[in-house]
This record gives sequence, structure tokens and C-alpha cells, in this order.
Amino acid sequence: MTTTMVQSFVGGRFVDSSSEEVDPIPDPATGETIAMLPYSTSEQIDSAIAAAREAFPGWANTPVPDRAQVLFRMKALMEEQFEDIALLVTRENGKTLDDARGEVRRGIEVVDFSCGAPTLLMGTNLDQIAEGIDEALVRFPVGVVAGITPFNFPTMVPLWMIPVALACGNTFVHKPSQRTPLSAIKIAEILQQAGLPEGVFNVVHGAKDAVDRLLEHPDVDAVSFVGSAGVAKYVYSTAAAAGKRVQALGGAKNHLLVMDDADLERSVPAIVSSAFGNAGQRCLAGSVAVGVGKVGDTLVRELAEEAGRLKVGRGTEPDVDMGPVIRDERRKELVGYIEEGQEVGAKLVADGRGIGPSDGFFLGPTIFDQVTPDMRLWKDELFGPVLSVVRASDIDEALRVTNSSSFGNMASIFTTSGKNAREFRRRVEA
Ligand code: NAD
Repeated sequence: MTTTMVQSFVGGRFVDSSSEEVDPIPDPATGETIAMLPYSTSEQIDSAIAAAREAFPGWANTPVPDRAQVLFRMKALMEEQFEDIALLVTRENGKTLDDARGEVRRGIEVVDFSCGAPTLLMGTNLDQIAEGIDEALVRFPVGVVAGITPFNFPTMVPLWMIPVALACGNTFVHKPSQRTPLSAIKIAEILQQAGLPEGVFNVVHGAKDAVDRLLEHPDVDAVSFVGSAGVAKYVYSTAAAAGKRVQALGGAKNHLLVMDDADLERSVPAIVSSAFGNAGQRCLAGSVAVGVGKVGDTLVRELAEEAGRLKVGRGTEPDVDMGPVIRDERRKELVGYIEEGQEVGAKLVADGRGIGPSDGFFLGPTIFDQVTPDMRLWKDELFGPVLSVVRASDIDEALRVTNSSSFGNMASIFTTSGKNAREFRRRVEA
């Protein structure tokens, strides 16, 4: 792949940017620059919003089955280009090709779902809800939607938003992560090939300034955000204060409770896969294992052994289990957490430093035992291949730790006891 200048997609045309803010886009597995990303100028962002605004009435009035036809073609094109898209994800994000294929498949599933728009968008009605009054529910598009997305799923997360918004008759301005802009442009190409009218879908690039422009612009009606917790709160409060519809999904710290009676032969590979898949860069990564009761020592030993079997390398190589993290600065931050963990008394039982090819941004699977809730290892979302093991004497203590995390969590329990499973379900849902 040669170094390309990434373009913006505005009003149905791919356009260059004259901005002096230009980021190199490295392949995280080699450090080699694969593209240059000039940020969109503020005029380009305004033009993208104006194009989406202008296209809105026509698209909103396009019959729903015709809108769905564009998505059927989008799905067919994505199936045809499936391997190319997966390879692009691996090149710009670093994840293994298998992980990239999984991501693209999940994204296509949302396109598939959105093809059902003619049924999904049906309203309801009830005649004579009161004397002489009939009631009807009709669905309308909201207008211009801005989608702001993270680096860790450069195809799947945008596809959580784009096909659904388009199927409903909205127009869209996508601002992908400035670290993974190539997949977004691929999606624009596919939508263009699928025959989407000009202006209905647009892509602009940048970081906070671009996001702020979208949040404050009066012609943006709704904002959909996925990213880290702090930015999610900022986007939510700023967009809501501006009177926009907004949904904002943030980060997580996910606890995996391992009970005394767990079947470790099956639990340990599942925990390792959850913690280290996608190099731990998943909002649903199981980043804390809670060893409950007497299981702790055996659990930690088996986790370290299983993690040691993972093959770390370039995502394009066969049989690789784990690729690099997104940037060298991120790798260094994670190394900082490892050093701090050692200083504050956590026990390093698997050390990922120095594992993987030296030219990419690699950090191997890392496991800390004896992590406690006062440590940043537990408090922060590390978003990398670092698993913390917390010890708890019983299920009460384990649930207290889990529920005291400041993040919105996923939690799982590994147990062979129905009683434990029911108790867990009752208490994490409470
Ligand atoms: P990020 O918050 O750094 O960036 C997300 C988006 O926000 C990007 O488009 C970025 O350009 C923009 N942005 C960054 N800083 C900003 C600021 N100060 N003001 C306005 N906009 C800003 O997130 P990331 O590092 O790209 O992605 C990883 C995060 O996303 C993790 O926290 C992960 O848990 C989360 N995530 C959550 C889900 C979910 O479904 N809840 C899914 C995937 C990722």
C-alpha cells in the first residue's frame, strides 16, 4: 500500500483539504506510514453539514423501500469486497485479520438489519382511543445526524449508526477517529457505488475542533457518539445543551468473577480471549478477573500459562492471536501503568514488555495479581492487553468491587453453581 492523502467526502465528492494540520497514519504493526490525514477545514465541515441539510428533504421523502434498496446494494458490495475491507481494518488498526473479519461481519449484520426498514419503520394506530379520537404513531426522520466514532472498530462502530440512520431517512455526517480514517472513506466509496444520492452521506476528519463544530452547528439535529467515557460525557452534555438528540456510549471496566467451583479448563481460555483479543482494545474486554475464595492461586497460574501461549505478531500473519496497540504513545502509557503497578505492590505475573516485533507498537499479554481498588490499574480503563486480578473472599465482596467501578460495566460469572449464577444475576441487575 502506497502513502495516500486521505480525502474528505462532501456533497457526494471526494475532496482534498488545504488544512495544515496533517497526521501521519501508521500501520501499527510496522510503524510504517501508510497514509497522511489532513484534517477537514472548518469550511469543509460546514459544507458537509450544508450538503446533508440540503439532501435531507429529498432523502426523507424517498420511499422507504427505495432507501432500503440502497442498503441492499451496500450489503452486496460489502460482501464482494469483504476481504479488502478486513485487510484495510487490519492495516490501519493493527488487529488480526480474523478479528477484522469478525468486525466487518458484525457491521454487515447491521446493514442487513437496516434493509428491513419497510417493516421496522411501520407505525401503529388505535381507533377510538377516546370517544371520537383515533390515535396513530408515525415515525419521522430526525434530520442531519452527526456520527463520531472511535479507533478500535473503524468499520463496525460507524456501521452501528450509518445504515440505521439512512434507512430511517436521515442524512449523515461521519467524523471517524483521526487515528483510523481509511475505513470511513471505504464506507463512503461503497455508499457512492450503491447509488446513495449526493449529500446524504458525508465524511469529515479531525479531532476535538471538528467534533465541537458538529456539536455547536445549528443544522445538526442529532449526535451519535462512541468513545471514551470523559469525551462521551462532554459530547452528551454539549449536544444536549444545544437542544440536539444525543446518544453517547463511553468506556468500560469489565469484571469477570471466577468462583471456587468454576470449570477452569473452559473459563481460563475464555478470560484470556476476552482480555487480550483485539489487544485488549475493546469496550467489552474483560479487564479485571476477580478470583473468589480459594481459586485465586490456581487461576492466576493458569491465566499466565494460557496468556503465554498467545502468538503476538502482525495481524496479517497466519496464526497470530494478538496484534499491536494503536500507537506507540499508547504502548508507552501502558508501560507506564505496568511500572506503576509494580511500584504500588501489584504482582506482575505475565510481563508483555518486549514481546512482539520491535518495529510495531507491540505489548504482549500482561497480567497483574493482587490488584486492589485503590490502584489506577483497577480504577482506569487501560484499553490495552493488561489484565488485573483482584482477590475476593466471597461473592459479596466480589460484587461490591464490581459494582463500585465508576464505569458502566459488563460483568460475567464463571461458576458451575446455579445458585451463584442466580445471585450474580440478581445483584448485578439491581
Ligand atoms: P476517544 O474518546 O479518544 O475518541 C472517540 C472520538 O471522539 C474520536 O472521533 C475522537 O476524534 C473524538 N474526540 C477525542 N477527544 C475528544 C475531545 N476532547 N473532544 C471532542 N471529541 C474528541 O476514544 P478512542 O480512544 O478512539 O476509542 C476508545 C474508547 O472508546 C474506549 O474508551 C472504549 O471503551 C470506547 N468504546 C466504547 C464502545 C461502547 O459501545 N460503549 C465501543 C467502542 C469503543
